[in-house]
Amino acid sequence: MRRKATYIFPRMGYSYAAFESFFQILGYDVITPDPSNSQTLKRGVSNSPEGMCFPFKILLGQFMKVLEENPDKYFKIVSLESYGPCRFGYYSPLYSKILKDRGLNNFEIVNVEGIYPPWYKGIPRFFKKLIKLVGWHAPWTGIRAFVIAGWKVYAIEELERKLYHLIPREKITGSTEKAFKRAFERIHHAPNKVRAVKKILAEELERMDSVEHVEDLDLPKIGLVGEAYMLMDYSNNLEIEKKLAYMGVDVDRSLWVTNWTLDRIIRAKKHLNHMSEVNKGYLDFFIGGDGQESVMNTILYKQKGFDGVIQVQPFGCLPETAAKQILSKVSKDYDIPVLSLSFDEQTGEAGFITRLEAFVDMIKERKLSKSGTREKKSTAVVSH
Ligand code: SF4
Repeated sequence: MRRKATYIFPRMGYSYAAFESFFQILGYDVITPDPSNSQTLKRGVSNSPEGMCFPFKILLGQFMKVLEENPDKYFKIVSLESYGPCRFGYYSPLYSKILKDRGLNNFEIVNVEGIYPPWYKGIPRFFKKLIKLVGWHAPWTGIRAFVIAGWKVYAIEELERKLYHLIPREKITGSTEKAFKRAFERIHHAPNKVRAVKKILAEELERMDSVEHVEDLDLPKIGLVGEAYMLMDYSNNLEIEKKLAYMGVDVDRSLWVTNWTLDRIIRAKKHLNHMSEVNKGYLDFFIGGDGQESVMNTILYKQKGFDGVIQVQPFGCLPETAAKQILSKVSKDYDIPVLSLSFDEQTGEAGFITRLEAFVDMIKERKLSKSGTREKKSTAVVSH
């Protein structure tokens, strides 16, 4: 007889709180992988083919740790598939093979994918995958799980936005982070009711706003583009947003769980058309992953008056490598500095901070000279 499955899903930033609620409402047990650390990274890297991209190795390490520590449980590993011609398409079969070769047989991989045209094929395929993922449930239970998880994702993103807005303005260093941690935990453990999540969000935003700070500051603005998983997972991007905020920058991330999901599932066609229009002459065709978004969002950041852009690029990511070359031209044509940062298991904290500081200093200097009478034209800053 098959054992009751426990779910594991890729840990990505703070969104895990919402995914836990989703599976719990459906009546399943969940084990959330720990944030990345040197042990899980080592496990993932040493068991992955060398040429695979960094996120593959990170997630393999996370899954492997949970399976090895819980040999008496049977797991459903939630993975994504079919998003483009990059290495994404290999994730599930490769995980399966590597884990089985390591003697781990207490799992199956269930894939989630978006709704792709033609709709008459895409919609039934989406629901078939969904039923395989979570089984049959009363429609009300399924809708409730989606709605609550959606609200929790939204609430967490609002709190994160507030965190990065207030850090460079706070009067007592660390006071906003303290307020954020409390707010996040309240949302994480909020009763699974929309009204409760809304109420806690309103209370906690107000509480964060009451942290002593100076609102009226014109800070340099830096936008973050790049591969979605690395952008959204603070434990793997070395908390780039928080670091920039503490350096006195208004930081904005282009991809969040909400807009990423909406653009790929609900408004995919509109999103692709918009991207082709903005990227005309640079990258107006799909290359997989988020490479096209990186180019589009850099142009949009310039149009919104941002002072610089940082591209977060996992080592071995083909779409972001292609985007990086194009960003060099975008940077020159649109007169916006772009710094490309590549991440792998060897990326060290000290060198990373030095590069961020140098970029921020340059952005501040440039903003200062622009606000004066001297108008300087900067050159692109694309790192290798
Ligand atoms: S977008 Fe890049 S990092 Fe993500 S799966 Fe594709 S190749 Fe790997």
